[in-house]
Amino acid sequence: VRIAKLREQLGAIGADAAIVTTLINVQYLTGFTGSSALLWIDHKSARLFTDGRYTIQAKQQTAGKGVAVQIVKGGALKALEKFKEKYQGKRVAIENQRIGFALATGIKKLFKIAKLDNAIERLRMVKDAGEIAAIRASVELNAKTLAQALKSYKPGMSETALAARIDYEQRLLGASGTAFDTIVASGAHSALPHAQPRNVAINANGYLLIDMGATHTDYKSDLTRTFGVGRPSRRAKDIYDAVLEAQLAAIDAIKPGVEAQKLHEITSKTLRKYKLHKLFTHSTGHGLGLEIHEAPRLGTGDATVLEAGMAITIEPGVYVEGFGGVRIEDTVLVTATGVEVLTPLTIAPKHWTIVG
Ligand code: ZN
Ligand code: ZN
Repeated sequence: VRIAKLREQLGAIGADAAIVTTLINVQYLTGFTGSSALLWIDHKSARLFTDGRYTIQAKQQTAGKGVAVQIVKGGALKALEKFKEKYQGKRVAIENQRIGFALATGIKKLFKIAKLDNAIERLRMVKDAGEIAAIRASVELNAKTLAQALKSYKPGMSETALAARIDYEQRLLGASGTAFDTIVASGAHSALPHAQPRNVAINANGYLLIDMGATHTDYKSDLTRTFGVGRPSRRAKDIYDAVLEAQLAAIDAIKPGVEAQKLHEITSKTLRKYKLHKLFTHSTGHGLGLEIHEAPRLGTGDATVLEAGMAITIEPGVYVEGFGGVRIEDTVLVTATGVEVLTPLTIAPKHWTIVG
């Protein structure tokens, strides 16, 4: 079905065939998860080229998808030579946004090139029922992981120890891995949106920011919670409340037909009320699925219109150098009538919470 949808677009792109080499897109279209793959799609057939290591795996994973598997020696370009004669003078579309230079150069020598642009990424934005179930399960597992890991929190614990606890509990609950390197950042360090955990005690009075995700049955989840530690200042809570208000305002506005950038406008406008908008230095969120960051991007300039079936994150943040940062993030689903917050809020509540 997914290959058929891409095939339908070939005409509009002005191509007679497409070559897909981005592994995650090959996985989306065929189910194959190996590290070496080139997928050829024309109007009649689809053929996956990989190497000998994946002989069994490729056959198993693509069963029933209408894809022929062929093992090639000597690289992907060699595989394409068989199409050279038949497709001479015709246009073959490549993933011009993601393909490597060497491969693109090689393909250009064989065919006339057309551009897929983000055709596959656009297909991936709207999730089917199976994908939604997988994302839902991943989000639930991730929230349970946080609750479980926080039980072992002790004052004086290091950021790395808490991050290790999260990764461990996540695997115990059945995740195949983390969706990205777990972020645990306390005190002034939490003002770095992509902080790495340090081998130092969690700062005694201030913020504790945890941003974590699971990979579960191939699908990602993404969750950020910021806690107060010990006796945080009044200002710490005030900033938290403003970020929460911004997050809730954006979630409230989600429904089919709304532009992605509109949600960023809403979070920014809310933070402006508290003169915190200049300290909000990233976009409001992103799509997620097989990858942790997918289209759309909930930021200025992305006019993607939200549709039912899109899974996105809502994660405004405020970062004060030398003081600390707050980010609150949930994974949500756009539904036919509005929005469903996938994060189970009874397991991962959002109200201002102090850990010991
Ligand atoms: Zn996150
Ligand atoms: Zn995120």
